[in-house]
Amino acid sequence: MRGNKSLSSKGHYWRELKTLAERASRDMLSGLFNRETAVSHIEQYLKRMQQGDACALFMIDLDKFKLVNDTLGHPAGDRVIQQAARTISTCFRPTDIVGRLGGDEFLICLVGERSLAFLEEKANRLLQSLLGAFQASDYLRVMSASIGIASSADPGTKLDDLVRQSDIAMYAAKQSGKSRCCVYSSGLTKK
Ligand code: GH3
Ligand code: MG
Repeated sequence: MRGNKSLSSKGHYWRELKTLAERASRDMLSGLFNRETAVSHIEQYLKRMQQGDACALFMIDLDKFKLVNDTLGHPAGDRVIQQAARTISTCFRPTDIVGRLGGDEFLICLVGERSLAFLEEKANRLLQSLLGAFQASDYLRVMSASIGIASSADPGTKLDDLVRQSDIAMYAAKQSGKSRCCVYSSGLTKK
Protein backbone atom coordinates (compact mmCIF):
# COMPACT_ATOMS: atom_id res chain seq x y z
CA MET A 1 0.00 0.00 0.00
CA ARG A 2 2.73 2.44 1.09
CA GLY A 3 4.81 1.39 -1.91
CA ASN A 4 1.93 2.14 -4.31
CA LYS A 5 1.37 5.54 -2.76
CA SER A 6 5.02 6.42 -3.02
CA LEU A 7 5.05 5.27 -6.67
CA SER A 8 2.03 7.43 -7.51
CA SER A 9 3.51 10.46 -5.74
CA LYS A 10 6.72 9.91 -7.71
CA GLY A 11 4.64 9.85 -10.91
CA HIS A 12 2.98 13.08 -9.85
CA TYR A 13 6.39 14.62 -9.10
CA TRP A 14 7.75 13.71 -12.58
CA ARG A 15 4.61 15.03 -14.27
CA GLU A 16 4.98 18.33 -12.39
CA LEU A 17 8.65 18.50 -13.33
CA LYS A 18 7.79 17.85 -17.00
CA THR A 19 5.15 20.59 -16.93
CA LEU A 20 7.61 23.04 -15.37
CA ALA A 21 10.32 22.17 -17.92
CA GLU A 22 7.80 22.58 -20.78
CA ARG A 23 6.73 25.97 -19.37
CA ALA A 24 10.35 27.12 -18.99
CA SER A 25 11.04 26.32 -22.66
CA ARG A 26 8.22 28.61 -23.85
CA ASP A 27 7.90 32.33 -24.43
CA MET A 28 5.12 33.39 -22.07
CA LEU A 29 3.40 35.81 -24.45
CA SER A 30 3.39 33.86 -27.71
CA GLY A 31 3.57 30.25 -26.49
CA LEU A 32 6.35 29.60 -29.04
CA PHE A 33 9.80 28.38 -27.98
CA ASN A 34 11.72 31.12 -26.22
CA ARG A 35 15.07 32.31 -27.57
CA GLU A 36 17.18 29.94 -25.44
CA THR A 37 15.17 26.83 -26.35
CA ALA A 38 14.92 27.66 -30.07
CA VAL A 39 18.68 28.32 -30.22
CA SER A 40 19.47 25.11 -28.34
CA HIS A 41 17.22 22.97 -30.61
CA ILE A 42 18.69 24.53 -33.76
CA GLU A 43 22.25 24.03 -32.48
CA GLN A 44 21.51 20.37 -31.77
CA TYR A 45 20.18 19.93 -35.33
CA LEU A 46 23.23 21.68 -36.84
CA LYS A 47 25.57 19.43 -34.81
CA ARG A 48 23.84 16.31 -36.17
CA MET A 49 23.83 17.55 -39.78
CA GLN A 50 25.51 15.18 -42.26
CA GLN A 51 26.28 15.25 -45.99
CA GLY A 52 22.94 15.46 -47.80
CA ASP A 53 21.18 17.29 -44.95
CA ALA A 54 20.21 20.95 -45.11
CA CYS A 55 18.46 23.61 -43.10
CA ALA A 56 17.25 27.18 -43.48
CA LEU A 57 16.58 30.02 -41.07
CA PHE A 58 13.77 32.55 -41.43
CA MET A 59 14.34 35.72 -39.40
CA ILE A 60 11.00 37.52 -39.21
CA ASP A 61 10.47 41.06 -37.91
CA LEU A 62 7.06 42.75 -37.95
CA ASP A 63 6.92 46.08 -39.79
CA LYS A 64 5.79 49.30 -38.05
CA PHE A 65 5.04 47.41 -34.87
CA LYS A 66 5.98 50.38 -32.66
CA LEU A 67 3.06 52.26 -34.25
CA VAL A 68 0.65 49.73 -32.71
CA ASN A 69 2.19 50.16 -29.26
CA ASP A 70 2.24 53.95 -29.61
CA THR A 71 -1.27 54.40 -30.99
CA LEU A 72 -3.27 51.48 -29.53
CA GLY A 73 -1.24 50.73 -26.41
CA HIS A 74 1.09 47.97 -25.23
CA PRO A 75 -1.70 45.37 -24.58
CA ALA A 76 -2.83 45.77 -28.22
CA GLY A 77 0.81 45.26 -29.25
CA ASP A 78 0.87 42.08 -27.18
CA ARG A 79 -2.23 40.80 -28.99
CA VAL A 80 -0.57 41.49 -32.36
CA ILE A 81 2.45 39.42 -31.27
CA GLN A 82 0.11 36.59 -30.23
CA GLN A 83 -1.78 36.80 -33.53
CA ALA A 84 1.48 36.78 -35.51
CA ALA A 85 2.73 33.79 -33.47
CA ARG A 86 -0.46 31.80 -34.14
CA THR A 87 -0.25 32.55 -37.86
CA ILE A 88 3.44 31.66 -38.04
CA SER A 89 2.85 28.37 -36.15
CA THR A 90 0.24 27.20 -38.61
CA CYS A 91 2.60 27.72 -41.57
CA PHE A 92 5.30 25.26 -40.44
CA ARG A 93 5.66 21.52 -39.85
CA PRO A 94 5.96 20.05 -36.36
CA THR A 95 9.58 19.13 -37.18
CA ASP A 96 10.51 22.78 -37.85
CA ILE A 97 11.72 24.88 -34.90
CA VAL A 98 9.62 28.00 -34.31
CA GLY A 99 10.65 30.55 -31.68
CA ARG A 100 10.20 34.14 -30.58
CA LEU A 101 13.52 35.92 -30.18
CA GLY A 102 11.90 38.79 -28.29
CA GLY A 103 10.02 41.99 -29.22
CA ASP A 104 8.48 41.58 -32.66
CA GLU A 105 11.18 39.17 -33.87
CA PHE A 106 10.73 35.46 -34.63
CA LEU A 107 13.24 32.79 -35.71
CA ILE A 108 12.27 29.64 -37.58
CA CYS A 109 14.50 26.75 -38.58
CA LEU A 110 13.19 24.72 -41.50
CA VAL A 111 14.75 21.34 -41.13
CA GLY A 112 15.87 19.57 -44.30
CA GLU A 113 15.17 22.39 -46.76
CA ARG A 114 17.61 23.37 -49.51
CA SER A 115 15.71 24.66 -52.54
CA LEU A 116 15.78 28.47 -52.66
CA ALA A 117 12.68 28.50 -54.84
CA PHE A 118 10.80 26.49 -52.20
CA LEU A 119 12.07 28.73 -49.38
CA GLU A 120 11.07 31.95 -51.18
CA GLU A 121 7.64 30.54 -52.00
CA LYS A 122 7.19 29.45 -48.39
CA ALA A 123 8.23 32.90 -47.09
CA ASN A 124 5.88 34.66 -49.51
CA ARG A 125 2.98 32.42 -48.46
CA LEU A 126 3.75 33.22 -44.82
CA LEU A 127 3.82 36.94 -45.59
CA GLN A 128 0.39 36.62 -47.25
CA SER A 129 -0.98 34.73 -44.22
CA LEU A 130 0.33 37.43 -41.87
CA LEU A 131 -1.13 40.18 -44.06
CA GLY A 132 -4.45 38.33 -44.08
CA ALA A 133 -4.42 38.06 -40.29
CA PHE A 134 -3.57 41.75 -39.85
CA GLN A 135 -6.09 42.92 -42.45
CA ALA A 136 -8.85 41.09 -40.62
CA SER A 137 -8.55 43.89 -38.07
CA ASP A 138 -9.41 47.43 -39.17
CA TYR A 139 -6.72 48.87 -36.92
CA LEU A 140 -3.86 46.82 -38.26
CA ARG A 141 -4.08 47.47 -41.99
CA VAL A 142 -0.67 49.15 -41.99
CA MET A 143 1.02 46.10 -40.50
CA SER A 144 3.18 43.65 -42.45
CA ALA A 145 6.38 41.68 -41.91
CA SER A 146 9.85 41.32 -43.38
CA ILE A 147 11.71 38.01 -43.65
CA GLY A 148 15.42 37.29 -44.05
CA ILE A 149 16.38 33.81 -45.27
CA ALA A 150 19.71 32.02 -44.89
CA SER A 151 20.31 28.39 -45.71
CA SER A 152 23.11 25.86 -45.54
CA ALA A 153 23.82 22.30 -46.60
CA ASP A 154 27.27 22.21 -44.99
CA PRO A 155 27.77 19.93 -41.98
CA GLY A 156 29.65 22.06 -39.44
CA THR A 157 27.62 25.21 -40.11
CA LYS A 158 27.61 27.48 -37.05
CA LEU A 159 24.33 28.93 -35.84
CA ASP A 160 25.95 32.35 -35.28
CA ASP A 161 26.80 32.51 -39.00
CA LEU A 162 23.28 31.52 -40.11
CA VAL A 163 21.70 34.00 -37.67
CA ARG A 164 24.02 36.80 -38.87
CA GLN A 165 23.20 36.00 -42.52
CA SER A 166 19.42 35.83 -41.97
CA ASP A 167 19.62 39.11 -40.01
CA ILE A 168 21.49 40.81 -42.88
CA ALA A 169 18.88 39.49 -45.34
CA MET A 170 16.02 40.68 -43.10
CA TYR A 171 17.64 44.12 -42.88
CA ALA A 172 17.91 44.18 -46.70
CA ALA A 173 14.18 43.33 -46.91
CA LYS A 174 13.44 46.29 -44.62
CA GLN A 175 15.74 48.59 -46.60
CA SER A 176 14.09 47.71 -49.89
CA GLY A 177 10.61 48.68 -48.71
CA LYS A 178 9.48 46.08 -46.07
CA SER A 179 6.62 43.55 -46.50
CA ARG A 180 8.89 41.18 -48.44
CA CYS A 181 11.48 38.43 -48.07
CA CYS A 182 15.11 38.53 -49.03
CA VAL A 183 17.55 35.63 -49.41
CA TYR A 184 21.08 36.08 -48.06
CA SER A 185 23.91 36.08 -50.57
CA SER A 186 27.59 36.83 -49.94
CA GLY A 187 27.33 40.28 -51.57
CA LEU A 188 24.75 41.48 -49.02
CA THR A 189 25.93 43.66 -46.13
CA LYS A 190 24.19 45.62 -43.39
CA LYS A 191 24.79 49.21 -44.52
P1 GH3 B 1 10.42 48.22 -38.20
O1 GH3 B 1 9.24 48.39 -39.11
O2 GH3 B 1 11.66 48.88 -38.75
O3 GH3 B 1 10.67 46.81 -37.78
O4 GH3 B 1 10.11 49.05 -36.85
P2 GH3 B 1 9.07 48.65 -35.72
O5 GH3 B 1 8.14 49.80 -35.56
O6 GH3 B 1 8.47 47.31 -35.99
O7 GH3 B 1 9.94 48.59 -34.42
P3 GH3 B 1 11.11 47.59 -34.00
O8 GH3 B 1 10.99 46.30 -34.72
O9 GH3 B 1 12.42 48.33 -34.16
O10 GH3 B 1 10.89 47.45 -32.45
C1 GH3 B 1 10.03 46.51 -31.87
C2 GH3 B 1 9.35 47.16 -30.69
O11 GH3 B 1 8.64 46.14 -29.97
C3 GH3 B 1 10.26 47.77 -29.66
C4 GH3 B 1 9.58 47.53 -28.32
O12 GH3 B 1 9.07 48.74 -27.80
C5 GH3 B 1 8.42 46.62 -28.65
N1 GH3 B 1 8.29 45.46 -27.79
C6 GH3 B 1 9.28 44.61 -27.38
N2 GH3 B 1 8.76 43.61 -26.66
C7 GH3 B 1 7.41 43.82 -26.59
C8 GH3 B 1 6.32 43.09 -25.99
O13 GH3 B 1 6.48 42.02 -25.36
N3 GH3 B 1 5.07 43.60 -26.15
C9 GH3 B 1 4.83 44.76 -26.84
N4 GH3 B 1 3.59 45.19 -26.96
N5 GH3 B 1 5.85 45.45 -27.42
C10 GH3 B 1 7.10 44.98 -27.31
MG1 MG C 1 9.71 45.57 -36.25
